[in-house]
Amino acid sequence: MTTVYLNGKFLPIEKAFVPVLDRGFIFGDGAYEVIPVYSRHPFHLHEHLLRLQRSLDSIRLKNPHTVAEWSQLIKELLSNYQEQDLSIYLHITRGVAKRDHAFPENVTPTVFMMSSPLLTPSQELRDRGVSVITAQDNRWLRCDIKSIALLPNVLLRQLAVDTGAVETILLRDGFLTEGSASNVFVVRNGTVLAPPKNELILPGVTYDVVIELATSSSIPLEIRPISEAEFRAADELWLTSSTKEVLPITLLDNAPVGGGRPGAMFKRIYQLYQEHKNQVMRLGNS
Ligand code: PMP
Repeated sequence: MTTVYLNGKFLPIEKAFVPVLDRGFIFGDGAYEVIPVYSRHPFHLHEHLLRLQRSLDSIRLKNPHTVAEWSQLIKELLSNYQEQDLSIYLHITRGVAKRDHAFPENVTPTVFMMSSPLLTPSQELRDRGVSVITAQDNRWLRCDIKSIALLPNVLLRQLAVDTGAVETILLRDGFLTEGSASNVFVVRNGTVLAPPKNELILPGVTYDVVIELATSSSIPLEIRPISEAEFRAADELWLTSSTKEVLPITLLDNAPVGGGRPGAMFKRIYQLYQEHKNQVMRLGNS
């Protein structure tokens, strides 16, 4: 039995229902987070809750809980699961109201959380690297908000699935933005390149961790716009996300990236990432 949290109660998923007039269902009016849990410790929980606050502020939705309350609710949710490594999905909508685009007054937000075993890429996949395709980034201009309205991302990701690829990498006006559900890093001539955090990409928690690890290890790093030409001439490309961690791309639109194998810089950063994870788990917090 899977236990979920809905509006103040922990209950079996089969018993969790939301009214059809919920603005999440009607308008996709809400925000969400996905938080990985390693050895039962939520990884960078504080950063995920900060990003949630930013998303909620951006859509003018009051955060229904304090950080302390969220932490307690997450702890309680996790106590219903046996697995060591999990992924927490947390979702808030503007609540249930008569259908009207404008914000309803005096409505209680809907709060939903569930957890499932964390499915990180297999070692084999990480050793081999993954295949991606590219597409024009036709999403809206507030990709920094972790909105539950994901239809553009869904359509873009499906393009990858249709061709047997793992992710769709997005290009807007001749520059790299991100993946349909991940951030993208480029390595050229020994330097790690990352697109800047702005309204065109989601500020990934993993993106920040990778930048922090590169900086503290004095790995050459440039955060700046990356042209399509630079992206296509990369020695290495990586995807990052909370569930993919750091994943090397070895095929881009069916052409090999660099030597067609995960590169030396990937191996270095992935090792640093694992060490960081172990350290966080040892300390028992993020
Ligand atoms: N960009 C998009 C569009 C995403 O959906 C995700 C995954 N949440 C990311 C980037 C990576 O973010 P994070 O590292 O916080 O999982």
